[in-house]
Amino acid sequence: MPQAKAFSAASATSPLAQTAIDRRAATPTDVQIEILFCGVCHSDLHTVRNEWASVMPTVYPCVPGHEIVGRVTAVGAAVKGHKAGDLVGVGCLVDSDHSCPACAADMEQFCPNGVFTYNSPDKHLGGVTFGGYSESIVVDEKFVLRVPTNLDLAGVAPLLCAGITTYSPLRHWKVGAGQKVGVVGLGGLGHMGVKFARAFGAHVVVFTTSPGKKEDALRLGAHEVVVSSNAEEMGKHAFSFDFILDTVSAAHDVNAYLHLLKMNGHMTMVGAPETPLPVSVFSLIFGRHSLSGSLIGGIKETQEMLDFCGKNNITADVEVIPIQRINEAYERLLKSDVKYRFSIDMASLKNA
Ligand code: NAP
Ligand code: ZN
Repeated sequence: MPQAKAFSAASATSPLAQTAIDRRAATPTDVQIEILFCGVCHSDLHTVRNEWASVMPTVYPCVPGHEIVGRVTAVGAAVKGHKAGDLVGVGCLVDSDHSCPACAADMEQFCPNGVFTYNSPDKHLGGVTFGGYSESIVVDEKFVLRVPTNLDLAGVAPLLCAGITTYSPLRHWKVGAGQKVGVVGLGGLGHMGVKFARAFGAHVVVFTTSPGKKEDALRLGAHEVVVSSNAEEMGKHAFSFDFILDTVSAAHDVNAYLHLLKMNGHMTMVGAPETPLPVSVFSLIFGRHSLSGSLIGGIKETQEMLDFCGKNNITADVEVIPIQRINEAYERLLKSDVKYRFSIDMASLKNA
């Protein structure tokens, strides 16, 4: 069995540490990838620390990472769309059943038999899938994406989750010119939401708990920035938003944002705090407001997003780290201290 160096957590309270994992030999439909960069998503941290135990309990050891950019090293005999040397990406999904209504609609993320890149049952090797905090990965060709060659690769990696997770709901709810759009939380997802909403032509307002991020929010594309603890600033925006995208990773008051929607306005949750959030019905019925959620995006839409980023020169703003600093990066994520995505340079693991 081929082995690969990786970083894994042995339990919810253990730091990530170097290990070796099995990677399957490529089947005829597989693509073997040398991982160059892997983004650090807050979902990695939620999973490593088993914060989503009630919905998706973590199986240990856990190798997280689902914002993968790499180079193809080999392909199976039946693979048509990729060849050795190609730059490719892998996001949160590595398999699905290809036969359910969700798959038929190109929304594999909702397939009841979908396989996530990590912490999902692995039908090839048993146990669970291992993600991108590793020097290599083997993935079915249908879940391997083409990466535009004109972009900085460290900044491309986060597009595979933070990018598609914000692009998809903004597209689904047809955000564009003439609309006022709010983005709550300026982290990995939030800063991509700002870039896309701006690129789609909306008037963009960022809500942040971090006054120090104001200037960055404007540089990233926001027209206005509101510090959410300032009641007066919040009040000025009452009943004015067409759409709000909530990317916050921890418990917070969603009613404060629902009140900012105009008549028939819509708010979508992409952030996934570990505890339920109380919703006051009154913040919905006054104004016929809607509240929904959105999960990453399908493979076809992820490719569309990557192509859009290639054409429009969009990447994540990253702080590149060696994998040996991953535990410190998690602590900084918890302090909202990331500008605006950590991207692991996987050469640090290869050379370790
Ligand atoms: P992140 O980089 O840590 O950003 C989260 C941001 O939320 C922080 O930068 C901070 O922004 C704000 N925040 C943090 N704690 C807060 C609190 N207590 N109250 C109010 N605001 C707070 O995380 P991320 O990687 O963007 O992920 C965000 C969430 O989305 C996570 O829960 C993650 O699991 C989830 N996620 C969901 C999907 C999906 O498909 N739905 C996909 C990927 C990730 P400010 O400093 O600006 O306030
Ligand atoms: Zn993610």
